[in-house]
Amino acid sequence: MNIPEKSKNVIMNTYARYPIALVKGQGSYVFDEDGNKYLDFISGISVNNLGHCHPDIVAAVQNQAASMLHCSNLFWSEPQLNLAEKLVAKSGLGKVFFANSGAEANEGAIKLARKYFFDQGKESKNTIITMDKSFHGRTLATLTATGQDKVKVGFSPLMPGFKYVPFNDFAALKKAITPDVAGIMLEPVQGEGGVHPGDGEYLKKVRTLCDEKEILLIFDEIQCGLGRCGALFCYENYGVLPDIVTLAKALGGGIPMGAFIATDKVAASFGNGTHGSTFGGNPIAAAAGNQYLTILEKENIIDNVKVMSKYLQEKLKKIPSTKIVDVRGMGLLIGIEVSCGSGSIVQCCFNNGLLVLAAGADVVRLLPPLNCTKTQIDEAVKILEKAIMEDE
Ligand SMILES: *Cc1c(COP(=O)(O)O)cnc(C)c1O
Repeated sequence: MNIPEKSKNVIMNTYARYPIALVKGQGSYVFDEDGNKYLDFISGISVNNLGHCHPDIVAAVQNQAASMLHCSNLFWSEPQLNLAEKLVAKSGLGKVFFANSGAEANEGAIKLARKYFFDQGKESKNTIITMDKSFHGRTLATLTATGQDKVKVGFSPLMPGFKYVPFNDFAALKKAITPDVAGIMLEPVQGEGGVHPGDGEYLKKVRTLCDEKEILLIFDEIQCGLGRCGALFCYENYGVLPDIVTLAKALGGGIPMGAFIATDKVAASFGNGTHGSTFGGNPIAAAAGNQYLTILEKENIIDNVKVMSKYLQEKLKKIPSTKIVDVRGMGLLIGIEVSCGSGSIVQCCFNNGLLVLAAGADVVRLLPPLNCTKTQIDEAVKILEKAIMEDE
């Protein structure tokens, strides 16, 4: 069976896919249809944060599937309650809305920001400022929010009400503030746009600016949140609390799920009938997400992220290649900027059994499972080093 070739005839070709079909995952490894084994330092783009098929997540999904797959949001459900209680307690924010994906979470956060000012009679305060090189999703509003032209080509007219500034440039942001600005949305650590961590002083100043100008601060932690950057919420690393945070990717423990959490004051603008989603907070996704958060604590995963982050970055910095321009990131969201193009290195790693991904044309991005080991990092760095040196 040739799954890749057959698929191209019937599935829209929107992704630059590896020419293999994966059939099985086990911990930090995946296997293709020919039985080849790969060390997975992509983790489903930061979805499979505990590796593949963690037995507790598998059990949570199986148990929930046997009692109820779906019940709609016309009813309350315990898995949703449990997950919401955990997220609220740990975020320092007030209330959650459950969605199905990252784009949908960001879309909802943008709606909430607009509605918040509408409710105060400030309907014209509706513009969202986002950052150059950001990534916020592929729906019409979120691709408009995204600070990269490549996702917008061919999809005009774009949504009104967005403007863009360079990331980590406080003067530029301050200059862009006008009375119509309702929100500033940013990723504390940019993922797709090349792995760019926010500057600590910058984020603190942005928070103060938002307070002064009555603007909502929205953090997109879809990639950098949920333990990936060495804290459950990446903003804990900065000591800066947003008004709204958006989550997805790892949130459902591998099952599709998105969410945004807002302060009680802001969340009050989402009353009955203002927003909704048929599958949002689906019991299976919520049960798996609960288990994900439970395992993070039980297995001290965040401590492991801190140790492995340091170990991995130190090893990468020792690779003796002039082609490495920079090694940066936070926790286990790591970018290696190279002067020779990321594509050939990604390909060479793949040929040698390591899955990594690009973040733009010149950054190789590593998203290892948060419970990875030093041995696995040694294995990955050996392959990476070979790929970078071979390309010499
Ligand atoms: C992946 C991602 C999104 C989009 O999430 P989808 O689930 O693909 O819609 C939005 N923002 C960031 C930071 C992401 O990494």
